[in-house]
Amino acid sequence: MQAAEWAGNMADNGCIFCRIVAGEIPCVKIYDDSWVLAFLDISPVSDGHTLVVPKVHFATLDQCPTDVVSRIADCASKIAPVIVTAVDADGYNVLCNNGSAAGQAVDHIHFHVIPRWRGDKVFARWPAGKYEPGRAEEIADRIRENLRFGR
Ligand code: AMP
Ligand code: ZN
Repeated sequence: MQAAEWAGNMADNGCIFCRIVAGEIPCVKIYDDSWVLAFLDISPVSDGHTLVVPKVHFATLDQCPTDVVSRIADCASKIAPVIVTAVDADGYNVLCNNGSAAGQAVDHIHFHVIPRWRGDKVFARWPAGKYEPGRAEEIADRIRENLRFGR
């Protein structure tokens, strides 16, 4: 992705994360480079809860070009163990909400890096279900029929 394309995406869109990237709204910065900014979540689920965002605006993971996804994924994967060590956690979740139904409140793609401690019950309710016979194959067939890679 080229700088000129960035400019189009960085237009004044009212996005809070674009405003943080632009320095218009303060954040507690953890890391930044020319592609990525990582900062502490203002309403942390746990101590050290960090958001990793691209400096260019894309709403969701599927709308984000592969090279941008790879930059934020790379940052999250490198920063997560450092955060874990810093807060003396036992593990971490990397979470990416896509769409309001999935809990996405800020329409600028971001990875949550959430430190976890054994028994912390942060995601206490994980409504794991069970497929009726044949249902998994039916759903998988429908997904595979619609699979188109390449952006
Ligand atoms: P999501 O629900 O996945 O869109 O997550 C958005 C996250 O952004 C939430 O966890 C918010 O607490 C966080 N957030 C919103 N505004 C700010 C801000 N100004 N600085 C840091 N984090 C923020
Ligand atoms: Zn944005």
